[in-house]
Amino acid sequence: MARIVMKFGGTSVGDIERIRRVARLVAHEQAQGNEVAVVVSAMSGETNRLVALANEAGTGLSPKDFDDEYDVVVATGEQVTTGLLSLCLRNLGLKARSWQGWQFPIETSDVHASARIADIKSDAIIDSMKNGVIAVIPGFQGITPEERITTLGRGGSDTSAVAVAAAVKADLCDIYTDVDGVYTTDPRITSKAQRMKAISYEEMLEMASLGAKVLQTRSVELAMAKKVPVRVLSSFLEPGEPNPGTIVCDEEEIVEKQIVSGIAYSRDEAKVSILGVVDNPGVAGRIFGALADANVNVDMIVQAPSRTEGKVNMTFTIPERDADRTQDLMNSIKETIGFRDIIVKKDVSKVSVIGVGMRSHVGVAKIMFEALSSKGINIENISTSEIKISVLIDASYTELAVRALHTAYGLDS
Ligand code: ADP
Ligand code: ASP
Ligand code: MG
Repeated sequence: MARIVMKFGGTSVGDIERIRRVARLVAHEQAQGNEVAVVVSAMSGETNRLVALANEAGTGLSPKDFDDEYDVVVATGEQVTTGLLSLCLRNLGLKARSWQGWQFPIETSDVHASARIADIKSDAIIDSMKNGVIAVIPGFQGITPEERITTLGRGGSDTSAVAVAAAVKADLCDIYTDVDGVYTTDPRITSKAQRMKAISYEEMLEMASLGAKVLQTRSVELAMAKKVPVRVLSSFLEPGEPNPGTIVCDEEEIVEKQIVSGIAYSRDEAKVSILGVVDNPGVAGRIFGALADANVNVDMIVQAPSRTEGKVNMTFTIPERDADRTQDLMNSIKETIGFRDIIVKKDVSKVSVIGVGMRSHVGVAKIMFEALSSKGINIENISTSEIKISVLIDASYTELAVRALHTAYGLDS
């Protein structure tokens, strides 16, 4: 007997027929003698609909006046699914009940719209599982110590599932989704992408943070920290059909190691160039300090001499959604920093190759640069870590670059 947390994403619970199939998968798991809790997302499209409603109602409000009520609105999508799935499970003759985030509770920080889970009181859920009553839990939701509703950021149900799995000491956290595992790259970009049997936590963390949205980055961080074995698998198969998925686990457990395991891309990027910055000690601290205070995540920083003596140009990337406010922020402190001009370019994307094998192999970057140049793709910025190389390119070349790199590293099926 094992204790299993099963998570189902938005497409997997997109209509009642699909929720019925989810119920059959859950029933099958319990029939094997396992203790089961289920974490669900909102039905596909529902969170977007709720976000649009909140945006419409809250036009013009500052984040301080908006974010907490935004959470109240968008957290409801998941509540609906918990009730619907419980009904479908009961219809199969099983015992099931829904729990809302505030009922256990799932306690989070008070950073609305991207809260972090602090603690989960799991006693009631464990009792429920032991008594054969399937606990149906909403992903994405939490509550602050002041009893305000929070959400965990888009894609946050993955993180809820891993956090619940850690809290109930589950043997496995199964993430059911609309693909049958983690692929060498987004299967929507190339049909040559291959499902991986296993991927290390570290590689998955890079893949997720560099754009592969199959798992939310924080869910992988948490799984790695709490040693929760995670499996990604298809929700579109009937119980009993072969569904091996992809195991996310420690590097040591993986037998077949590749130099490059996967390719990720992100279109949510903007490139900021601050030109003619006075080359004084402390300038970089002022620029990036101001961005950190404004909660803007900065990446790919390059400093290069400017044509003017004593001046430098500072280039970096930020999430595209932060582009306008970054431009405003920099202009508002132009005098304090001392720069000539700021240019913000939004139509860029970041393409990354990821693999633990890079630690011990040379020539990985050369393959990347040659493959891109053979397609006439210009590289605007480069950044590296021990297990990844990222390049910034013109957004219109994203698919071409991903496909060229997939072939160049021998990943095509
Ligand atoms: P869910 O609604 O189940 O949470 P998501 O849409 O968040 O599902 O994530 C699944 C999607 O992630 C897939 O449909 C796929 O297009 C995308 N994806 C991006 N990169 C990868 C990858 N390397 N492997 C698998 N899927 C990926
Ligand atoms: N429903 C939320 C979203 O669409 C959370 C999730 O599905 O993971 O972002
Ligand atoms: Mg998701």
